[in-house]
Amino acid sequence: MIDSHIHLDDQRFDADRSQLLNQAREAGIKGFVVPATAVSGFSKIKQLADAHSDVHPAYGLHPYFVEQHKQQDLQKLAEFLDDNQAVALGECGLDFYRDDLDRNTQQAIFEQQIVLAKDMNLPLIVHVNGAVQAVFEMLKKHRYFKAVMHSFNGSVEQARQITDNGVLLGFGTAVVNPNARKLHQVVKSVDLSCLVIETDAPDQPLYNKRDQRNLPMDLCSVAEFVAETKEISVAELSQKTTHNCRQVFGL
Ligand SMILES: [Zn+2]
Repeated sequence: MIDSHIHLDDQRFDADRSQLLNQAREAGIKGFVVPATAVSGFSKIKQLADAHSDVHPAYGLHPYFVEQHKQQDLQKLAEFLDDNQAVALGECGLDFYRDDLDRNTQQAIFEQQIVLAKDMNLPLIVHVNGAVQAVFEMLKKHRYFKAVMHSFNGSVEQARQITDNGVLLGFGTAVVNPNARKLHQVVKSVDLSCLVIETDAPDQPLYNKRDQRNLPMDLCSVAEFVAETKEISVAELSQKTTHNCRQVFGL
């Protein structure tokens, strides 16, 4: 399996990162796509990728930090994407749940990153909290669909339209919650060729461990629940989602 979205650079992993990585590897997780969120974190991710051949870096400017991104950060971003075996531009995108983040600024920064990714022919890793439709409209505007919408939280109908255009959808620990019925319907409806799995660790704890960080290992629970929801074996799910990851990220 490949974790298509994990913040391994997070300082909450500083004390035991190596052990956790080894634990995950032993459980069959063979790759980790690590998206950055701001320029200040780019070097640490590059170091991790240099130290571990199964850690694949992505660089981007996350909407949470919209106030702190500067115009010259786009230049820095382009340099990192160019030099450092980056597999994607991300994490970028829009967050319309957080009303403290100016939407126009978010959209301007996201749009510049779409243009850059298209220019460099790199896939986008996109954050779509409360903004699935707005993100999709921007991708359509630029006719660029080489992208993964991570932690997808849209409707069945949106999922269909978006995957029809070739965008992949990422599902994570939220699927493990037995009460997430709407999300289960979406997972059920998405064709296996358009689906990837993720932990988003440490930010998305399992529903029954709310006060804890989640771990690289938790990808196993995600895989089990997604497989169960789609009524296929974990082996088939692993094989298909790994294939999808390799395709989109060029691994
Ligand atoms: Zn993330």
